[in-house]
Amino acid sequence: MNIEEYDEQLKKAVEFHGELCGGIAIGTKLGMYGLELLGLELNKRHKNLIVILENERCTADGIQAVTKCSLGKRSLKQVYYGRFAATFCNMDTGEAYRVSDADANKKVKTKETREEMVERFRSTPPEELFNVEKVKVKFKDGQKPGDAHATAWCSVCGEKVTDNYHLVRDGKAICRACAEESYYEVIE
Ligand SMILES: [Zn+2]
Ligand SMILES: [Zn+2]
Repeated sequence: MNIEEYDEQLKKAVEFHGELCGGIAIGTKLGMYGLELLGLELNKRHKNLIVILENERCTADGIQAVTKCSLGKRSLKQVYYGRFAATFCNMDTGEAYRVSDADANKKVKTKETREEMVERFRSTPPEELFNVEKVKVKFKDGQKPGDAHATAWCSVCGEKVTDNYHLVRDGKAICRACAEESYYEVIE
């Protein structure tokens, strides 16, 4: 991973995210490191790659821009842990690495300007910026890309639920919104 490659990827990430910020500088490097760990090339879409994000901050956009994984392709997952990490899985081999931002886990922040931070991420080897764990990812049935998985109709609201995201209660299919506390409330 050289500086020219980083600058090229950072430019794309900034375009995608809409601004240059510290999170984008980190996400770009983290995404590049994830690809490198799996031996995958830059500037390509990899059908065998799934990335799992643990937060929805600026870094997430950097990782998405670099890896080209997306929600609609089912190659990008969000687990909302709020931790500064992402996992990169090669679906052909099962090889997976969880990469976390070592800085973010420090309780005392390094005092630096945004420019200094970007420059640090640009010029420091990824091994010094991130922690890597080799992991085995437990995908649920229906989470993998490809053809649609089991479809069911909710016995309460009647809506169609795709990709095995329904639950079964008393032998009947039920969607998560009806089974658990829904994120919305109908007011009209
Ligand atoms: Zn940002
Ligand atoms: Zn329902």
